[in-house]
Amino acid sequence: MIDTIMQRLGVAESLYRQGDYPVTSPTDGAEIGRLSFESAEVVDARIERAQVAFAAWRQVPAPRRGELVRLFGEQLRRHKDDLGALVTLECGKILQEGLGEVQEMIDICDLAVGQSRQLYGLTIASERPGHHMRESWHPLGPIGLVTAFNFPMAPWAWNAALALVCGNSLLWKPSEKTPLSALACQALLERAMAEFGADAPDDLSQVIIGGREAGERLTDSHQVPLISATGSTRMGREIAPRVAARFGRSILELGGNNAMILAPSADLDMAVRAILFSAVGTAGQRCTTLRRLIVHQSLRDEVIARLKKAYAGISIGNPMEGNLVGPLIDAQAFDQMQSVLTQARQRGATVFGGGRQLADVYPNGYYVAPAIVEVERQDDLVRSETFAPILYVLSYREFDEALAMNNDVPQGLSSCIFTTDVREAEAFVSDMGSDCGIANVNIGPSGAEIGGAFGGEKETGGGRESGSDVWKIYMRRQTNTVNYSRELPLAQGIKFD
Ligand code: NAD
Repeated sequence: MIDTIMQRLGVAESLYRQGDYPVTSPTDGAEIGRLSFESAEVVDARIERAQVAFAAWRQVPAPRRGELVRLFGEQLRRHKDDLGALVTLECGKILQEGLGEVQEMIDICDLAVGQSRQLYGLTIASERPGHHMRESWHPLGPIGLVTAFNFPMAPWAWNAALALVCGNSLLWKPSEKTPLSALACQALLERAMAEFGADAPDDLSQVIIGGREAGERLTDSHQVPLISATGSTRMGREIAPRVAARFGRSILELGGNNAMILAPSADLDMAVRAILFSAVGTAGQRCTTLRRLIVHQSLRDEVIARLKKAYAGISIGNPMEGNLVGPLIDAQAFDQMQSVLTQARQRGATVFGGGRQLADVYPNGYYVAPAIVEVERQDDLVRSETFAPILYVLSYREFDEALAMNNDVPQGLSSCIFTTDVREAEAFVSDMGSDCGIANVNIGPSGAEIGGAFGGEKETGGGRESGSDVWKIYMRRQTNTVNYSRELPLAQGIKFD
């Protein structure tokens, strides 16, 4: 299956069937590719070539750069089914979600094409006669992208589509767990470049195959002015000071610990559906997965009973075969989940579900029943991100208490409230409300649209990607003062003669 998909996507077998690093599918543990990690010298050479490509690409007018992204979007539309299937095979999310990830890429291409005609600055009133002041935006340079396994394509595309129309070249270090997805995106972008013509320089976009060391090499390069890194908070803690030490810029998209406040006035039918999708979707392996349910005391028993019933009906199994929950990425993720559940039990929590499934059918696939864990308070376990389907249930009496719990974690990615009380809803999204980058009312915390800026505060890293005015981070801002008079007045009325 993998070979047919890769062939249709235009990835030569020699690119993913050589080397000593095996790539396996989490669906059953089978090997789907074999690659070689690139050496530091190869990474350095790629960075040099990205500089050359940048020097040419920044001269192409922005709307024309948008045309390349439009052509890439067309490739994505044409190959949506194969790309979706590849995402499913390589990272284990169900096919519907794999297709959704590709749709996000198509959507960001559409947005970026429009943006390519709107990279506008400002005119500013000058205090001096005969002077114009303005602000203009210029391309930045090669953009370094480091991405995580759980969204093997879309976060790259969020960055790449905007970075390309802004006049930059790309260097992508994908997760070592999902490099085939990167090779496929690269192949389709190369097809779009061939169609686009000679204006698209060689090496405009490159993929670096490697692990942490390759990521570090990229991160440390003075020739890469912006590093956009998606992954764990641990990774961000390592990358951030390295980029800062060379005065580079970074976009950090790190771990989340997302909550839902379920208020007494909530529409419970809607809320239960939202909890189910956001807590068990992608087998709990989304940065925006619902991890903490903060439910009003009066609803606690009913909601837990309804959730247990809904959880019992979830189909867990091969993500290609119409199930709702696929596997965890690997054995390490499974061990981590089990260790956390054991600790929770030892601390007196009530644990529902969480056990391994289908081990007889898939001895090398790590399928689990999503877990519901009833706890009394937010201890260090609850306050940490475990990248697996564990939903902690906490209860509250007063709204302020729930809000405080929502905010009392180190991460600040996504959050939501289910309520029909307009005061609670507005308070939640107010200055005094949720401290997260995303705060929703009557929808779950996951499944963002690309039109908004995506990212979070605190240990989530503070980065923003996708829509709104995010394009500005891929450009450098320049303030221009132009004197069209025959005098040379100094600012602030200074006399210097
Ligand atoms: P990870 O941190 O293990 O790896 C992410 C990427 O960073 C990989 O490409 C890896 O090779 C690279 N890397 C690791 N250490 C590095 C270093 N020191 N220098 C440079 N590169 C380094 O994350 P993962 O397990 O692949 O993904 C899961 C995590 O990602 C979760 O914490 C999840 O919440 C987070 N995530 C966040 C977002 C977001 O937008 N906020 C989106 C997806 C995933």
